[in-house]
Amino acid sequence: MNAGMTEDHIGRWLFQEDGLVPGYLRAVDDTIEEVCFGTPPSDSARSVILPAFVNAHTHIGDAFAHPAPKGTVEDTVGPGGYKHRMLDSAGTVEKIAGMKASIDLMSRTGTGIFADFREEGADGANALHRVLAGRHIRGVVLGRPVSAENVKDEVQDLLRTCDGIAFSAVSDWPLEVLEATSRICRQSGKLFSLHASEVRRERIDDILSLKPDFVVHMTAAAEEDLVECARAGVPVVVCPTSNAFFNLYPDIPRLLDLGVTVALGTDNAMICRPDMLSEMRAAYALSRRFGGISAMDAISLATLSGRKVLNAEGQITTEMSVSDDLVAVDVEGEDPLLGLVSAAATAGVSAVAHRGKLRRPTLG
Ligand SMILES: [Zn+2]
Repeated sequence: MNAGMTEDHIGRWLFQEDGLVPGYLRAVDDTIEEVCFGTPPSDSARSVILPAFVNAHTHIGDAFAHPAPKGTVEDTVGPGGYKHRMLDSAGTVEKIAGMKASIDLMSRTGTGIFADFREEGADGANALHRVLAGRHIRGVVLGRPVSAENVKDEVQDLLRTCDGIAFSAVSDWPLEVLEATSRICRQSGKLFSLHASEVRRERIDDILSLKPDFVVHMTAAAEEDLVECARAGVPVVVCPTSNAFFNLYPDIPRLLDLGVTVALGTDNAMICRPDMLSEMRAAYALSRRFGGISAMDAISLATLSGRKVLNAEGQITTEMSVSDDLVAVDVEGEDPLLGLVSAAATAGVSAVAHRGKLRRPTLG
């Protein structure tokens, strides 16, 4: 190390698929030189090093409309409801400012990847692509056609720039339109997804016949629907904070018992800010009504499971090396896993790393 350079040690534990192991990051002038296994030097900050969070379901296009007033799902996000009235009346500048603020928040709070259900057709998708240009965070953009007319052309057009297509719900579109879109996505190696059984139970056979890469919610699903998802190997993304706003609760313990891959998302940014440390705490706390999940499970939901769900292209790894996206979270208490899911505040995100460069966010 040359004179004038400062060496820094960050973390006491590294998060691995089967638990925490002693370890830390060795950085020189904010460049990570090494992910070290073993006992950290005594000056190393009391934090856990995690793979960057994956926010597996967002709609950051409605961030400008935060905070949404209290209401039912239909009043708030349904056709003609608050969200769509706001989207119709707002200007592009306002919408883009909301998206930028959401992406900045995600970057500061340790999210490395997010998957957005982007409404408003090609215009909506292109606006998000423009906001993402030159930023560190990886945005998985799932576009949505605006009408059932000429849907194939519109889907082909969206897939030129998007990572896939995502629909509102199986009941909102003719099944043949959804089937045709799913087929095009599969043939193009792109993702296909949709919301499922959020407020009302929808026909699981119809949903699974579309071979979705994942479904979102399943809060109103029956037990046998969850079994069918497990059997079909279809992951479920749950959004505990957004669901609780509508008095809905995903049965995460049951999904995990059945062997379903479950990942976490923050859903509409007008309802819930895209902060994954908060979402992880919500998943842990709100699951208690169904018997609870372990701290380890909650952390996996927010990190590794999201990578599995979005891994259709095989480009998102679960490695932990100097070039991977990482987050350091300060923890208190005897048990660092419990510290992560209960005591750690968002301000506990002490460092985030992207391609070997360490940033220390100032959190407001
Ligand atoms: Zn959603």
